[in-house]
Parts: sequence; structure tokens; C-alpha cells
Amino acid sequence: MCGVIGIVSRGADVYGAVVNGLFQMQHRGQDACGIAISDGSALRLFRGVGYVRQVFARPPSDDFAGSIACGHVRYPTQGANREENTQPHAVRTGEGILLALASNGDLTNYAAMRRQLEAAGYLFVGTNDAEVLAIYIAHQHLDHGLTIPEAIRRLQAEVRGAYSACLITRDRLYAIRDPYAVRPLVFGEREDGWVVASETSALDVNRADLRGEVEPGEIIEFWSGGYRRLRHPQPQAARQGRGLPAHCAFEHVYFSRPDSIYHGQRVYDVRKRIGAWLAEHDGVAADIVVPVPDSANAVALGYAQAAGLPFELGLVRNHYVGRTFIASEQGVRDEGVKLKFNPLRSVFKGKRTILVDDSIVRGTTSRKLVRMVRSAGAAEVHVRIGSPVTRFPCYYGIDTPDPEELIGNHCDVPGICAYLTADSLAYLTVGGLRECVGDVGDYCMACFDGDYPIDIAEAEAKIRAHRQLQLDLEQAHVTGRLLP
Ligand code: AMP
Repeated sequence: MCGVIGIVSRGADVYGAVVNGLFQMQHRGQDACGIAISDGSALRLFRGVGYVRQVFARPPSDDFAGSIACGHVRYPTQGANREENTQPHAVRTGEGILLALASNGDLTNYAAMRRQLEAAGYLFVGTNDAEVLAIYIAHQHLDHGLTIPEAIRRLQAEVRGAYSACLITRDRLYAIRDPYAVRPLVFGEREDGWVVASETSALDVNRADLRGEVEPGEIIEFWSGGYRRLRHPQPQAARQGRGLPAHCAFEHVYFSRPDSIYHGQRVYDVRKRIGAWLAEHDGVAADIVVPVPDSANAVALGYAQAAGLPFELGLVRNHYVGRTFIASEQGVRDEGVKLKFNPLRSVFKGKRTILVDDSIVRGTTSRKLVRMVRSAGAAEVHVRIGSPVTRFPCYYGIDTPDPEELIGNHCDVPGICAYLTADSLAYLTVGGLRECVGDVGDYCMACFDGDYPIDIAEAEAKIRAHRQLQLDLEQAHVTGRLLP
């Protein structure tokens, strides 16, 4: 998962606004970030590994300013965490940077697209999907004479997978969304221009009023004087016959901030509904409801209010611990949970506790927390999960691991409960999630139900090829056979 932003102003410098927007989306990616900016005559790019506040502690240079920009926070799903895999990706010609692009999502035919572009003579510096998007558009523009919107349209016909992207040239910003609209992308208007972003929280900080979502397959072209919407002429055909788009349901469950509006609904409200659903379908007697902060706060609150039980913040979270989820060693993940949470003994002592989390992936967090809560004095620990069982990997931009690592892939609910050593365990059902998000068939729930909207057979094979290619490229990089 990543966060993208694009801003156009009628003349003011937008550097600070982009930094503020990225800062509001730091939760979407903490590994690296970058900004590309245009002053109308030249594009400049600055990227780095680290948090927004570190990489952009101050403007990279005196001339790093302009009225059109795009930015990115990175959560790696494809490509190692090296600087050349950070975004935006820029395509350079003899006259400087032609365009820069930042994207959220994963392509399922990356390897084939990359080979095609390499055969056309393009060199890649990293192993990240967004580089394919940037180079493909530049290739169609430079070598086939297409305008940028025409090049993007062609891209949408050839590239498979999920991408919500912002692209800038010297005088334009383009918002681009794949025809399935898997990953979020919204746009808003402010006093002196427009803001495009993965989440409305990045609009709010920039005092931009939400104007809507970038529609499935849509391209929106912004310039200092206005914008035009280029809706996809045949979105259903572009989705290979699928009538409705496939918005990621996991955004509501975990990824988006609760104050963001995702696919027309405030995430906070959806999460509270999920909590209420869990309470209404629960028969367990308990004394307190405690969230795993922060992602389960609203779910636990919804549960507590519906059940008429006290809501207690019994786990205190350290906000300065980095992300533990994708740490490569299980030991590091285990230690990370201990570093991240500390229980309040006075809250748990003698209490039958409903412990609420948003999801279980490998089971590391819940197992640790059940033990922690019990050793803090809880009489019983009943785990409630604000999403269905995560049983399948995501190929569209969320870092869910290989199926073997997903506890829900090889254990049933009683088996998971036993692993967690909880007194009971209950999940939201897929039907419950549909109810809570108001699904009319326009959501992707593949990580829960295995129903992949985009070419799953092809995707699996391509992902395997992608992984192999990545391994080869990383190896080549290590052994120095590839120029950086
Ligand atoms: P695990 O400990 O492997 O079971 O992971 C579950 C925990 O990770 C939960 O507390 C979630 O809030 C969080 N989580 C779930 N999905 C993701 C994700 N894709 N990236 C980072 N954290 C996640």
C-alpha cells in the first residue's frame, strides 16, 4: 500500500502543501517518500528512504519549488527498499525530466510489460511497478507521437492490475485510475487550485473541498486554468466484462484513516458499524471492550456502544515504534509487538475482556496480545475481529504474505483460537462486511473470499515470474552486474 498526491495551483508554490499531504498519509507507507515538482519550465525530483519528516525536513534545494507537483509515500510490495525503487519515477530526455509519476497498487503483468519496454530500448533503474507505468507512457508519447492522455489510455488497455496514480509534466497534472478502481483516488478543489490524493485526509489538511472520486478508468487532466475529465469510454469492456468496479474493502477495514471518506463513506462510520455487527452477532458475557489501537478503536467503540459495555483503552500504544508487520524475521515481529503495546493492569484485573482487532494475518499480534492481556489480570479474553478471515494473498497492492504464512489459510476458526490461546474467537463474516460497507458488488474482497476480480490465473503466474525476476535483479544488483 502507498499514498499518492498531486497538486496544481494557479501560481503559488505547492511544495509545502505536498509535504503536508504526504504527512497526512504517512500511515500508508513509512519506508520511503518523494516529490516531483515543476516550476513551468523544469521538473525536479527528490526522493529518499525514511519518513516524510526526515526526508523533507527542509526543501531539498532553493529552487525546489513550483506550482505543479506530485508526491508519494512508499510501502513496499514490489521491489526492495532501495532509493531507486522510491517514487515518483521520472523519465528523462536530453531536455531534462519529461514526466514524473507516483502510483499506488500492483501490476499483475509487470514482467511482460517490462520486457516489452526493454525490447524497445528503455533501461530500468529499479524493480518497481510504477517505473513501468512512467516508462510506458513516455514511450508511447515519444516514440509513437501520442499525447499524454492518449498514451495513458493505451496503457490502460495493456497494463493489468491496480494503479491509482498522479503524473506530472511541466504544465499538467494527470490523475489516473485503473478501470477496476481497486485503490482509492479522490480529488478536491481549493482556493487556488486542485488536489488529488489517495485519501481525503490529505485534502482536508490542504483546505480542499472534496469534489469526488476519480472514476474507474478515468483520466483527469489539471492545469493552472482548470481541469477536464476524460471518462473511460468502455469501462466494462476494460474490466473484461465485469459490470462493476472492484474497490478494495481492506481500505475500510485497516488501511484508510478513520477520518477519510472512502468510496463515499466515512471510514470511522463503517468501522463503528462493523463493531456493532460483531456485538449483535455475539452471545458472550463480558465486562469490558478493549481495542488494539489505533486501527481497531472505532470497531471496538461500535461494539461497546451496541453491547452496552464499557469501552476501555487498556492497551497503550507506543507511536514511535516502526512498522513490525513486514519485519522479515518472526523474532523481530514478536519483539515488535511487545515494544508497541503495554497493558494497563488496573483496567484488565479480573475483567472478562472483549479484545478487538481489525484483522489477523499471521496471528503474531493477537497471540502476543492475548497473553499480555491475560498476564495483566484479565479473567477471560475473547478476541473479536473486524474483518472476515484473511485467507488469500492480495495481488493488488497490499502486502499480505504468501498463503502459507496466512494463518487463516491453513487453520479454521477453532484452530486459530487455539493458536491465540483465547477463550473465544469470532470474526466478521463476508456477508457482514458487505452489509457494513454497503457493497452492491463493487468491492474487491479477494483476500477474504478468493474471488479475484482481475485475471487471477494470469496474475498468479505473472506474480511468480515477477518475484523471480525481482530475485534475479536483486541478485544481479548485489553482484554488480546491473548498473544502478
Ligand atoms: P499479524 O500479527 O501478522 O496477524 O498481523 C495483524 C496485525 O497487523 C493487525 O493488528 C493489523 O492491524 C495489522 N495489519 C493487517 N494487515 C496489514 C498490512 N497489510 N500491513 C500492515 N499491517 C497490517
